[in-house]
Amino acid sequence: MTSNLAAQIFELAEKYRDDAIALLSDVIAIPATSNTEGPRLEFLKRAIEKLDAADRTFIDPFGNLCWVVGTGPKVLWFDGHTDCVGTGPLEDWDAVDLHPHETVLKGNHLYGRGSADQLGGVINQVFATKIIKELGLGTEYTVYSIGTVAEEDNDGGGPRWLFSEGIKSGLYPKPDAVVLTEGTGHAEKGALGIYRGHRGRMEIVVETFGRSCHGSNPDIGDNAIVKMAPIIQQVNELQTSKVLKDHPFIGRGSVTISRISDNSPSNCCVAPYCKMILDRRITFGETKESALAEIRNLPAVKALGDQVKVDTLHYTEPTWTGHPVDDDICFLAWATPAEDPVVTSAVETYKAIITPNAAREEYKTCFKAEPRVEGWIFSSDGVGVPNDIPTIGFSSGMEQNAHIVGEFVDVRELVGTIAFLALFPTIWVSRV
Ligand SMILES: [Zn+2]
Repeated sequence: MTSNLAAQIFELAEKYRDDAIALLSDVIAIPATSNTEGPRLEFLKRAIEKLDAADRTFIDPFGNLCWVVGTGPKVLWFDGHTDCVGTGPLEDWDAVDLHPHETVLKGNHLYGRGSADQLGGVINQVFATKIIKELGLGTEYTVYSIGTVAEEDNDGGGPRWLFSEGIKSGLYPKPDAVVLTEGTGHAEKGALGIYRGHRGRMEIVVETFGRSCHGSNPDIGDNAIVKMAPIIQQVNELQTSKVLKDHPFIGRGSVTISRISDNSPSNCCVAPYCKMILDRRITFGETKESALAEIRNLPAVKALGDQVKVDTLHYTEPTWTGHPVDDDICFLAWATPAEDPVVTSAVETYKAIITPNAAREEYKTCFKAEPRVEGWIFSSDGVGVPNDIPTIGFSSGMEQNAHIVGEFVDVRELVGTIAFLALFPTIWVSRV
């Protein structure tokens, strides 16, 4: 029965391929960085209604777009973020004969900002719910398919609101499982992995304080940039040291200097202030407190006493609907156990709907016959999902393609993901 249904779903996913490409192009044409998603989401809401891809649609007070399909008691959330990073200088896109908001299809590659990270995933959700509705599959389950906001700047902000206010207000039922549609492809290992976790992420700010004076007579001032120099050195040594913990599944914690700035009054002054931002990836066994203590205990930091401050950053940008936000930028690592039904159902779904097509001429350079169960290198909305909610990721898009000039998605991955997402709930609901 599953194999007939899988074949029927795959055929429909192929039938909707060009519609998915067209809708993805339309959505990419509406620029939206974090907290500016409104016009993109209002367009997408109308498109979902026109496509008859849901039983109902709504935009919640946080600004997330939700479309619902099915009537059954088990609840599944699809989560895909709808914001993108900026484009960077347009000349860089010109140089490769592309425009970030005007897609082009070259062979199987569709180019544009957000094609891989992760508007493709959101469009996959739309056509999957369309197929679920068309085939009347949602009798045992209900899918809340959500396009979240502000993930790029504040990972997991959307789901954090959903799991607190969203559920409390009665707008959303608590899910029995979550499927993230952040891209699960790896440039070397192949497309369409089944991902079940990743490292956490933290932004640490280090500030040094000094005293300004005329740059022609620096000895009477106190240069804050010079004070930062040994700290930079020691942060770098920390990255290569054995201090950072490792984990066999999600990998080792890491730290890098992502930004450094000053507030020097002019080019002819001693700098009175210096600020450095650290991108800290956290593995299991590492916490906010342990990561902060590592920096506070660096000899160069200790030597400075009260002339240095080390803390986590806070995110306070309101969403596009004006909803206030106050998140500590510290998100812990997570992983769903490999034996959880959400993972085993994903493997079974893959074998039912991707594997049989992997040998076909048009897919053999895209689909792998065997499912690959791993974790992301980067972070995702998954950090906003509580640890007791089984969560996986599956979608089009290579991680190595995210945020680059010339970002693209292989449109065959769209077909594979639409098909996977349409079949997955049926298999999952039979196991929970
Ligand atoms: Zn993303």
